[in-house]
Amino acid sequence: MFPVSCGIIGVDNSFHLIEVSRKLSEQLKIVSDIYGPSFLRKPDSIIITHGHLGHIDGLGLFGKEVMDVKEIPLISSKKVINFLTKRELVKSFICHELSPNHEVEPTNGCGFYIEFLKVPHRDEETDTHAVIIRGPKKALLFLPDHDSWSETLNEIGAKNIRDFLKKIRVNIALIDGTFWDKNELKNRKIEKIPHPTISESLELLGKRRFGDPEIYFIHLNHTNPANEESSDQRKKINSMGWGVASQGSTFSL
Ligand SMILES: [Zn+2]
Ligand SMILES: [Zn+2]
Repeated sequence: MFPVSCGIIGVDNSFHLIEVSRKLSEQLKIVSDIYGPSFLRKPDSIIITHGHLGHIDGLGLFGKEVMDVKEIPLISSKKVINFLTKRELVKSFICHELSPNHEVEPTNGCGFYIEFLKVPHRDEETDTHAVIIRGPKKALLFLPDHDSWSETLNEIGAKNIRDFLKKIRVNIALIDGTFWDKNELKNRKIEKIPHPTISESLELLGKRRFGDPEIYFIHLNHTNPANEESSDQRKKINSMGWGVASQGSTFSL
């Protein structure tokens, strides 16, 4: 199981990547296995949500020794770009700052727009944003990490998760499913790693209703029983009408 990452293919066959993990080459292979060998190549743009290790630790692979990319646009917040610059991780990129609530087309003619949404998440050194991808027909939310629903809902003045997804106008939501519940980590205190648990999200959501967006949990920790397709936890998620995204899950926008 690899760290979280999301590839996007534009209408012009351009290829874009959200998050660059140390498993970059294996993850590019997943894309090329589905869409063909022409996608086993460097991305046309990179988007980073925040500075935590699993989300950025593959950036060095774009250096001279490995892929030797030059002048790829890297889109992130001002704080993340400063953080990456200090660590000399963005030498191969042209950095573009994106502020929340602005839409940008990562490359000319790619046919989709991305928008950042600020979310609270252990912001020690960088801030954190979720990404909304707006395609010609549908929009998708990519929200791998946040601290709590109450803070995130508060950020945009939403009453509940449904209201939140309606306000940001998305049809598909990939949301933080790091832990199943608070009892999951035996040794480390779970309060030190705040995430809304899947149990909590299910309780807030209830069953899927007519007209609801599709919701899939992503970013599952290896301790999360919902990783297992035959687990009761996974069955519960599915029986309520929601899902768990797996490696190679694709969505058409
Ligand atoms: Zn994080
Ligand atoms: Zn994370």
